[in-house]
Amino acid sequence: MTGIPTLIRAPARPTLAGRGRAELAEAAAAAGEPAERHKMRAGQLFHWLYHRGARSLDQMTSISKDMRGRLGEQFDVGRDEVAREQISEDGTRKWLVRLADGALVETVYIPEEDRGALCVSSQVGCTLNCRFCHTGTQGWVRNLTAAEIVGQVLIARDSLEEWPSQPDGRLITNIVLMGMGEPLYNYDNVVAALRILMDPEGIAISKRRITVSTAGVVPMIPKLGADVGTGLAISLHAVRDDVRDELVPLNKKYPIAELLQAVRDYPGASNSRRVTFEYAMLKGVNDSLADAKELARLIAGIPAKVNLIPFNPWPGAPYACSDDATIAAFAEYMNRAGYSSPVRTPRGRDILAACGQLRSDSIRERAGQRAARLAATPPVPTV
Ligand code: SAH
Repeated sequence: MTGIPTLIRAPARPTLAGRGRAELAEAAAAAGEPAERHKMRAGQLFHWLYHRGARSLDQMTSISKDMRGRLGEQFDVGRDEVAREQISEDGTRKWLVRLADGALVETVYIPEEDRGALCVSSQVGCTLNCRFCHTGTQGWVRNLTAAEIVGQVLIARDSLEEWPSQPDGRLITNIVLMGMGEPLYNYDNVVAALRILMDPEGIAISKRRITVSTAGVVPMIPKLGADVGTGLAISLHAVRDDVRDELVPLNKKYPIAELLQAVRDYPGASNSRRVTFEYAMLKGVNDSLADAKELARLIAGIPAKVNLIPFNPWPGAPYACSDDATIAAFAEYMNRAGYSSPVRTPRGRDILAACGQLRSDSIRERAGQRAARLAATPPVPTV
């Protein structure tokens, strides 16, 4: 014993928020319930967590006080900490979420006139290193757990005061896996999270209102279709392999032809359920009319729409955004070729919440917050 005070933070009780039915049943078992009641308890907990949005066990009045007490000895229903919430001039909101181990991820809410999309992260950092994406420059940290993915939705709904879950008049009508990370490289956790979010007794967002975006992890695309059948978005960004190899290095492993074949085979693709191709407009790189022509040729026959994303700049980015006139001409060509090709209005640029901008705050915040936390936390003596 050296007598030097050790910095210990009391571990919080593990939270039930974000867990699925099987894990909730395990929690009931851990709290001493007999086996025949596990399923019933899991159902109750599921209802309170995901239909009512309960923030404490005490709210769960359909569960006996005794049982709540026993659960409370081991668990709570807390959320991950919101390190910061920002609201853009255009109503976009961004939450910087500090996970239990201190890692940070961002979640973005994008309101539109008749709908609202929540853009959820699937990894801390990313392994893909797409050259135009800010998240890629952060490097790789780790996969999110299913509970951490669901947790982002809970945090957003808390903040928007969107409980209990209602079928109509929702603010968050859609969920897009388009935040930090590559969802198909965290497949099991993403699918487990989607099953919780889709469950009709909870948040109940239908698979038709969920879109998983991928840079093109080809072998997982048919699996996603078979397992959950959500909407699919492909970050295409280039029509030639040499250009795409540069922009999206994953292309070297799964080139354009293979990727498009997987899209053609994706179950359920139809005119009412089109695949989305995301295409960031990079000045002088992928934005010519010849590129548009090739794009239309490549995707011919696929029920698809093309989201043209004006490149969102970030400090040190090696690309610039295409001119408005170039983007308009590209869009016009695609529209005439029969592909709805909206130019995505950048949202939340002022809070770095737009596509591909998620990162820098996390890094800055991490250094700053750590310093502040250390300064604010008095040493806890060991006893
Ligand atoms: N890894 C998945 C999920 C991320 S989605 C994927 O690649 O699809 C984020 C979307 O924003 C992707 O289409 C990505 O290519 C795009 N993007 C990244 N950086 C961007 C930037 N600076 N400007 C515009 N779009 C960008």
